[in-house]
Amino acid sequence: MSFQGEIEARCTACRQVFETPVWSFVHGSDENLRNQIKAHECNLLLCPHCGAAFMPDASWIYFEPASEILAFVFPESWQAEEAKWREKMKSDFAEMRGALGEKLPIDYEPEIFFGQAGLGDLLEAADWRVDERDVMEHYARELGLKLYKASPRWARLNGAPTDYPYKGNGAPTRAGLIEGLKVLVAANDALTAWSDFLAKFEKDAAAGVPPAAKAR
Ligand SMILES: [Zn+2]
Repeated sequence: MSFQGEIEARCTACRQVFETPVWSFVHGSDENLRNQIKAHECNLLLCPHCGAAFMPDASWIYFEPASEILAFVFPESWQAEEAKWREKMKSDFAEMRGALGEKLPIDYEPEIFFGQAGLGDLLEAADWRVDERDVMEHYARELGLKLYKASPRWARLNGAPTDYPYKGNGAPTRAGLIEGLKVLVAANDALTAWSDFLAKFEKDAAAGVPPAAKAR
């Protein structure tokens, strides 16, 4: 459910203007587009007059609900007027939500990027975390532990894992998480994301169970 809009682009090399479609809304389920972002090539245009490749002055939105990523990507050259574009993002977001309704989350503000490199890095990091999680889940199952999914957004903001092993029945408790994490890291000391989390979590007696992922 990604979609494009038509723009007038001006070639940065020969200055000729031409009409072209560009992506204005990219959904994370589009594997091709997601890969283009990781390669920093989403919306890269080729001038039909001189053949130069360039990024148009167009902003777009990236949305990946499974990872709770919602991003506004502005052209890199717009960073000088960051405050202005942050304001524009707020009104665009309100408009977009009117058009897309329930499909857009209402409970968090979009992240803003000038140029897509930062978003590409974020997606690379998210993929790496998924690989690491698969290893953790394999061990947790072997050890008879239960699994809990925290909010991916919360995890990113806190530099913590998204998924956790725990012991006990029903929803996880702080004690059940600590017990599950101890069993896990005793079985595999390479799972440092979880051993690091455990060390911090145990020290901070006020820390509760991480907020759950939103069901979508
Ligand atoms: Zn050109």
